[in-house]
Formats: sequence, C-alpha cells, structure tokens
Amino acid sequence: MIVVRNKLDLNFHIAKFKKNNKQIGFVPTMGALHDGHISLIKCSKQKDDIVVCSIFVNPTQFNNNEDLIKYPREEKEDIEKLKKAECNIVFIPSVSEMYPEEDKRVFDFDGIDKVMEGKFRNGHFNGVAQIVSKLFSFVKPDTAYFGRKDFQQVAILKHLNENYLKHLNIEIIACDILREDDGLAMSSRNKLLTPEHRKAAPLIQKVLKKYKTRYEDFTVKELMKLIEGEINKNKFLNVEYIDIVNNNNLKTVSEIVEGETTTCIAVFAGNVRLIDNISF
Ligand code: AMP
Repeated sequence: MIVVRNKLDLNFHIAKFKKNNKQIGFVPTMGALHDGHISLIKCSKQKDDIVVCSIFVNPTQFNNNEDLIKYPREEKEDIEKLKKAECNIVFIPSVSEMYPEEDKRVFDFDGIDKVMEGKFRNGHFNGVAQIVSKLFSFVKPDTAYFGRKDFQQVAILKHLNENYLKHLNIEIIACDILREDDGLAMSSRNKLLTPEHRKAAPLIQKVLKKYKTRYEDFTVKELMKLIEGEINKNKFLNVEYIDIVNNNNLKTVSEIVEGETTTCIAVFAGNVRLIDNISF
C-alpha cells in the first residue's frame, strides 16, 4: 500500500493509474478505523481496480472544538488495517496541506442541511462539503463510497455531487451500516464511551427496530414520542433529536411509506454523541 501525505505525490500516483485506465474507488474517512470503514473498502474492492482511502480529521466540520480535540487518532493502527484490507493508496494530509488558506466557500443545499444534524451542528455540512469537494478534485475517483450510518451526509453529498461537482463525473455509492453484535452502529466515537454508556447504547437500535414493525399502530408524532421516551428512560442516554423523514427531501413526514421513509436519531451517551437511523 502506498502512503502519501501531500497532493503532489497523490497526483503522481493517481495520474499513473489513470493512464493505465484503472478504475479508481475512493473512501474518505476521519480515521480510527473500524469494520464499518473496512466494509466500504471492501465494497470498492469488488467494483474498482484501485482503492484510495483518505484519513483526515477535518476541522471545518467540527462545530465544537472540544469534540475536535478529543476525536480519536490512531494512524499507525489505521495503516495496518488498510494494508490488511488491501487498500492501494492511503492519503493522510496535514491541515495546512488541505487548507493552505481559509476555505470561505458556502454551499447551498436547498434546505436539506437545515434539518436534523444541521439544527444542532451549525456549519457541519458546509465543512463536510468543503473537504469532500477538495478530496474529490485531488483523488478524481470514478466512484466514492459513503456509509448510510450518516444518512443525512449521504443526501448532502449527493446534492453536492449533482449541483457543484458534476464535471468530475463521480458516482456516489451508499453502503449499509455495520453494527456490533449487540446492534450498536459502529463508530469511531464508540471508543470514547465509558463502560456504562457502552452498555446502554445498543438500546438506541433496539427501540428503533421495535417501532419499525409497529408503525401502523401510531401516528408519526406518537412514534417519535414513544421512541424518545423509551430511550430517555435509560439514565445513561439522552435523545437530542428524533425525526421521521422522507428519504429524498429529509422533511418530516405525516405518513410512513415503506421504502421512502427513515427514522433518524442523535443521542448523547454521557458526552459522546451517537447517531443512528432505520429505514422503513
Ligand atoms: P467517519 O470516519 O466517521 O467520517 O466515516 C467515514 C465513512 O465511513 C463515512 O462515509 C461513514 O458514513 C462511514 N461509516 C462510519 N461508520 C460506519 C458504519 N458503522 N457502517 C458503515 N459505514 C460507516
């Protein structure tokens, strides 16, 4: 596996592969890799000739400095995991490499950045769009892979790709959520949970799953209240928001339609913020 830390070296390798007509897949990450990330690498390996992964904890998408500082960083272990997964190139740039000057771009997402995560993480998606647009233009992949765990992020990035980056001709593929055996969605943040909070956290998925099959008995409002109430009953968990939305416009629905609707949730387990979702 080739480890590159600057754009010039990255460009050199990418140009070589492109010249040989290799199809390039790209998996952007913030590191502290787990099997969820590796599942994206595996998706790419099935489809592409060359898999590029990036590891970059992007400061512009953190609205809370403390969260940025405590974000886990495990470069050595990450490189080993990527080697094992037969990733071809890992790009690990510094902040000054990605932001030689302040990025002042402001993206318009037609409102889908204003709901759910957007309400609680001001500027988060603009920061995600800044970094992904830079990474896309450096890596120039044919296909890019993102996890459905970040449900709203996938919608935002599809919008970015369609409306701002069409000239790059990149296909975005959304991959399924990988979970621990007890149902907790894998996340780099799970490492920050205390044993009590880790034990409580699988309740999030358990409750979402319970109401996925019982939705016909309740209104959407009742459902949201029931889910929130059952999770909050656990003293280690505190729901920040719950929303039941249309998969395309991310607006709260008045009626659940299978194949078109998803419940999204953010929950604090102590001071660790976890997100999850389940589609009907
Ligand atoms: P992150 O490093 O958290 O920015 O995540 C990098 C990519 O991995 C994003 O596209 C995430 O949606 C995806 N990802 C994170 N956790 C999971 C998971 N449990 N299952 C599948 N994909 C995931």
